[in-house]
Amino acid sequence: MNFNIEKIRADFPILHQQIYNRPLVYFDNAASTQKPRQVIDAIRQYYEHDNCNIHRGVHYLSVKATEAYEEARKEIRKFINAKSTCEIIFTKGATESLNLVASSFGKRYVKPGDEIITSIMEHHSNFVPWQQMCLERGARLRILGINDCGELDPGELNAMMNEKTRLIAVTHVSNVLGTVNPVKEIISLAHQHEIPVLLDGAQGVSHLPVDVQDLDCDFYCFSGHKMYAPMGTGVMYGKEIYLEELPPYQLGGEMIKDVFLDHTTFNELPFKFEAGTPNVEGVMGLRAAIAYLQELGMENIAAYEGHLLGYATEKLSAIEGIKFFGTSRHKASLISFLLGDIHPYDAGMIIDKMGIAVRTGHHCAMPLMDYLKIPGTVRASFSFYNTTEEVDQLVTAILKVKEMLA
Ligand code: PLP
Repeated sequence: MNFNIEKIRADFPILHQQIYNRPLVYFDNAASTQKPRQVIDAIRQYYEHDNCNIHRGVHYLSVKATEAYEEARKEIRKFINAKSTCEIIFTKGATESLNLVASSFGKRYVKPGDEIITSIMEHHSNFVPWQQMCLERGARLRILGINDCGELDPGELNAMMNEKTRLIAVTHVSNVLGTVNPVKEIISLAHQHEIPVLLDGAQGVSHLPVDVQDLDCDFYCFSGHKMYAPMGTGVMYGKEIYLEELPPYQLGGEMIKDVFLDHTTFNELPFKFEAGTPNVEGVMGLRAAIAYLQELGMENIAAYEGHLLGYATEKLSAIEGIKFFGTSRHKASLISFLLGDIHPYDAGMIIDKMGIAVRTGHHCAMPLMDYLKIPGTVRASFSFYNTTEEVDQLVTAILKVKEMLA
């Protein structure tokens, strides 16, 4: 595989530290990824040379910062192959992107009796906004189930769609099960009924090449911090035909065209959806993160992480009493598991003391936990900077958990 792992790891300063006198093993990448020096440097460069509020000034720094910000929008357009930069809305993360669509789409298109379809595997961020919007508007939220491997069934979706369905909102990749959903098939089925599809790309965009035109999704939402960029950055991609129609989400500076005493006209896209001073330094970091990912190549990343996932699945499968949640053949690089009836928090605490960061709990997916009838899982999520040696250390730590608690 065309991957120089030592060189990659050298780019991530945080990885080179000892935790409890052991080298840190960071397997909590689905919660947030670490940042390469290139991203940290881009933020420093911005504050040392370019810092200024954007879009409003005619002076040198304001123009320079505005140009850099708009360049970043162009890079993101290319990265996900959107048709136009006016379809790229900066937000503070996937959660804000999803709230934006749920709120604006609801106001524009959803009436009492209408239906929205989502799935049981959704993160709360792609569940609660739809649930609340449906409650407010007298609409019905319908929930797609999963099979024993943790996969959605497009056939079930087909049977659920009807003339009342206004939108389908599903995740590209599950943050609990790792399943890569058959989103192209879902979108194609939905479009046969002229139903738009929103993809929650929070776990997709850092692992897989994403081409929104090829997918033909109508909305794609993601966070910067899960793709090696700073916290507080994110994107809402929406097809221009929808964004033109949707009302603004937040009101204030920047999103207006003219303000009168009794009414206001709104700015053109994408600014209509970007009220107030944005996170400019974060977007500089996001731009650097995208350049970093492009340099490695998303295909290479997917191949290397697939190799790590295969290795980890094989090694962990050999542990007696381990139970996996999410066994689809189409998975991104994360593994959710339980060890007999050991509580995930207890397991997580012992694993932590061995220098390994894994996540434990419901992973912001309580409906899925209820469906699976479990309190939570232990989740190890891998990045391209992780190694098979680190996976071996996880296996040793799990055996220690069993020795202490089983
Ligand atoms: N959707 C999925 C699938 C996620 O995994 C997450 C975060 O874990 C989110 C949405 C929310 O992302 P954020 O907290 O960055 O807004």
